[in-house]
Amino acid sequence: MFDLNTLLRSNIKALVPYSSARDEFHGEAKVYLDANENSIGSPLLKWYNRYPDPQQQKIKEKISAIKGVSTKQIFIGNGSDECIDLLYRAFCNPGVDNVIICPPTYGMYEVSANINDVELRKAPLLDDFQLNLAHMETLVDEHTKLIWICSPNNPTGNSINMADIEMVLNNFDGIVVVDEAYINFSRQRSLVTLLADYPNLVVMQTLSKAWGLAGLRLGMAFASEEIINVYNKIKPPYNISEAVQELVAKALDNVEDVNEMIKELVKERKRLETELPKLAVVEKVYPSDANFLLVKVVDARGIYEYLLANQIVVRDRSKVLLCEGSLRITVGTARENDELLNALQKFIV
Ligand code: PMP
Repeated sequence: MFDLNTLLRSNIKALVPYSSARDEFHGEAKVYLDANENSIGSPLLKWYNRYPDPQQQKIKEKISAIKGVSTKQIFIGNGSDECIDLLYRAFCNPGVDNVIICPPTYGMYEVSANINDVELRKAPLLDDFQLNLAHMETLVDEHTKLIWICSPNNPTGNSINMADIEMVLNNFDGIVVVDEAYINFSRQRSLVTLLADYPNLVVMQTLSKAWGLAGLRLGMAFASEEIINVYNKIKPPYNISEAVQELVAKALDNVEDVNEMIKELVKERKRLETELPKLAVVEKVYPSDANFLLVKVVDARGIYEYLLANQIVVRDRSKVLLCEGSLRITVGTARENDELLNALQKFIV
């Protein structure tokens, strides 16, 4: 049985969260002398002298409307990377608890586990890059707190079968995190629609990919109100700056243009999926539901360095489990993709 209270670290259960005078005073005051801000303000940027809304209510309302999820089921982090790290801090006792990842996958699940001194257990994906459910099951014990599933998965690009994810959700009493950083490029639907069915589900998304806002650092976690309350209890009070909240509020009003941009990137992905296999250096292009392609080439390190010498940077994943000999290539603009194709065409095998 999933029970949030028994999963939580005892120090987090007992934690008295940070509070400020503005938790008690809502509305507009005439004079604010409570937070040791500078009432005069910066000469050039006067309007940033106050602390930002710690609950980011305005952008939560916009995200709620777009995603069809209640504002109380949304946590906003300084990138998904903060949403990832806070889950370790809330649930995993250092030196005692463990989590499961399914490599090859996004690197921060492992780095965050190491930072927090949490044991990492690995259930590698199968040859078709799907979950190895039987192996995952053997790794679970009473100290397993989190299972990380990335769908579409980085760096392989495929979506994880929905039925398999639901199997994990139904059979694991800890928290299942489904990282949907690339969901807007996917043919598969988001799991946010299943939040009501699974109290142990956390879905993560980000504005860094489809929304084109990696520089602003805005990640989202969608979960039950109880899990979101835990996030709110332990988060740094002002984790999203006023400047970012303003810019994001603007960007979120523009869903139609973003959808057009996503269509454009998916079109370019399809073009690369067609053109790359025609090149002598390319052995295989794996199917992708993301904004990047895993591409097996004849000489990964050689081609990586050749592209670098031509000022084209891709990711060398050739030493990564199941990705041997492969590069991970982000889908760029049409012009950037042309540059890539031209350079690869000229590589002498
Ligand atoms: N999750 C996955 C699967 C990613 O690939 C990335 C970025 N490479 C992130 C999360 C990080 O997202 P953010 O920029 O929101 O921290």
